[in-house]
Amino acid sequence: MTMNEWKFNPHTDTIQYLGGWLTDPTYRGCIVRENSGRRAGTWAVRPRDPWTEVDHTAMYAETMEAARAALENVTPGGHRCEVFVSQYLGHCPERASVVTYSGIGDQFRGILLCPVHSVKVLVGDPRMSVERWEAKCGAITHESGPIVGDRVTPPMAPVRRSDFLSRPVVWGDDWEGYTLGMKLAQRIVRGDLVMFHGTGAFEVNSVDVVPIPLDEPLYRFNCNGGATYGGTYNCAVPVLNPPL
Ligand SMILES: [Zn+2]
Repeated sequence: MTMNEWKFNPHTDTIQYLGGWLTDPTYRGCIVRENSGRRAGTWAVRPRDPWTEVDHTAMYAETMEAARAALENVTPGGHRCEVFVSQYLGHCPERASVVTYSGIGDQFRGILLCPVHSVKVLVGDPRMSVERWEAKCGAITHESGPIVGDRVTPPMAPVRRSDFLSRPVVWGDDWEGYTLGMKLAQRIVRGDLVMFHGTGAFEVNSVDVVPIPLDEPLYRFNCNGGATYGGTYNCAVPVLNPPL
């Protein structure tokens, strides 16, 4: 196994590539020596974001060796969000973009959060991008924190179909091919499939904002069959994404 294989650019010694070549799925990012400016002589550590397929500078290292070690820390393929959504849906399946942390020198990692959950979960805690954390502090592994690696994936519980007057578009015990995702309540639009606990996914026909006395307004999703679901601003709503 060649996990940490470095490639060199034949035309310049200021850049090195980890993994396969740029166009290869095994490409993991690069390190680049800064030749001018206040960072001249340092190395930019630029992991590849597996979702956007763009390299971003996560940190600068003083030496080539340190830069290499930092990039090697970044887990290929990234990590998933660690928020537990419900007994019915298990953990959030979205990609994690940030990780919370605590302690002097940032040494204790907190929880991995997707863009949707990061809006409301642990908002008071310091956080940084997952790539930056790993480059600086080491690869995030199952042993290094709460649940990464071992996730609760509940079986699709049988749904007693005769119990429901409104039939979902996709039954909660039969959503093969669909993928679960998260959306902020205010981003839900007509056509979205929102997941009702215990029943399945209903299609949103319209959304209205209902004022609630002495409380936040409610985004109400009016779905097929007369089913309704609601959530407040910035609350995470489980949705099903249809097969591509
Ligand atoms: Zn999430």
